[in-house]
Amino acid sequence: MQLITKNLSAADFVSNSINGSIDISEFYGALNEKLAIIQKKYAPFITIIDNPELPKKHGALYGLPISIKDCICTANIKTTAGSKILENYIPPFDATSVKRVKENGGVIIGKTAQDEFGFGTFSTNCAYEIPRNPHDPNRSCGGSSGGAGCISAAADFPHIAIAESTGGSITAPAAFTGTVGLTPTYGRVSRYGLIDYSNSMDKIGVIAKNVYDTALGLTYISGHDANDTTSSNTKSENFEDYAKNSTVKGMHIGVPKEYFDNIDNRITKAVMDNVHKLENDGAIISEVSLKLTQYALPSYYLIAMSEASTNLAKYSGLRYGMQNYVDGNFSEYFSNIRENGFGREAKRRIILGTYARAAGFRDAYYMKALKVRRLIIDEFKERFKHLDALIAPSMPIIAPRFDEIKKLTPLENYNMDKLTIGPNMSGIPTISIPIGTIESMPIGMQIIGDHYNESKIIKIAAVAERNLNGN
Ligand code: GLN
Repeated sequence: MQLITKNLSAADFVSNSINGSIDISEFYGALNEKLAIIQKKYAPFITIIDNPELPKKHGALYGLPISIKDCICTANIKTTAGSKILENYIPPFDATSVKRVKENGGVIIGKTAQDEFGFGTFSTNCAYEIPRNPHDPNRSCGGSSGGAGCISAAADFPHIAIAESTGGSITAPAAFTGTVGLTPTYGRVSRYGLIDYSNSMDKIGVIAKNVYDTALGLTYISGHDANDTTSSNTKSENFEDYAKNSTVKGMHIGVPKEYFDNIDNRITKAVMDNVHKLENDGAIISEVSLKLTQYALPSYYLIAMSEASTNLAKYSGLRYGMQNYVDGNFSEYFSNIRENGFGREAKRRIILGTYARAAGFRDAYYMKALKVRRLIIDEFKERFKHLDALIAPSMPIIAPRFDEIKKLTPLENYNMDKLTIGPNMSGIPTISIPIGTIESMPIGMQIIGDHYNESKIIKIAAVAERNLNGN
């Protein structure tokens, strides 16, 4: 079985399972053992589903193994969002994205590890086992969707990971694990059933091994959903078609110079080599400036923490997750639950976010940050009047070792997101693709597009991927 499926793309796996040349019950019989081995080595999962429910009827994802980030609700399957406070939470319903995966025949194999509620860049702020990078287990998989990146890199079987990004949580793990990460336009995929981090910026997206499979995943989870008032009416597309026979001829691509400040110069070189190849393929390249880039990080963290602090207010030991006997008054009860249930980073964000929203500070911090975000969106919009896409490095460094991460101050930690925050807070789509290695660790390049222009960034990514594969 292993030999048959090992080098199959997700799409080929599906056609083989539909025509019967792959027997999916046999495949899943063998998969259990494989997942246990991967889990022991790299810990991508919080929960593994031992005997997954197999689809009854054919669909575009028929029989395909799909992992789900643990902040996305799955009916009757534990959903912790990486937090101890939700240790025993079993949702009674499926998130819309999960429902769509199942309706199309996808098979849920497990819930992937992440930073608690998405608070982090390295998946080290996790109440459970920290995922380890399959390229070097002493290094991080990135975060917050670290488990999704980890299993996508470690899987020697066809697989798609459904992940989530608020400020870069798909791009970071994709770059660090050498996989492809697609963060769609805000509103493209329903957030119904997603455990909120920062509602105005959260997006469900996909990580997989190649551009085609990643785009295929997006096709079947996107589209309007009446259960999410922020989900867009824009028609869903067959995104994977853009990955086939695509060309960049005549496309205008900008290289924003601010995205190359203070990054590993070996990464700069790799990105520019790939940009030049696209130029040889007929793209028109120009250097551009995004002057507001320096304001993205502080305004993002103000908005993200403000929204996170209100979202976490509901975890009080009454409705969801962790509970106890009420001893003392309710105030003491809530404090006790929250003291024990939340990790350090969640507490930091509750305190900072509550402060930024408090009467007297709200206008100076939260409201001001919202205005800065508007200006950043406008700056991107202005560039996209003349450009089809922007290209930049995905992350400023290669995946750090765990001992290096321990030494980072919170601010140094947040600063690692400086290349992903701008597009993420603007709600515009990005795709990160692997473009080689430094010291045997993968590096990533991100292609950024205007709202609802996933088609363009997928086309460019597919051409760049072909260049790298030498065909
Ligand atoms: N690292 C960023 C943060 O901690 C982004 C995380 C995310 O996208 N969920 O907020």
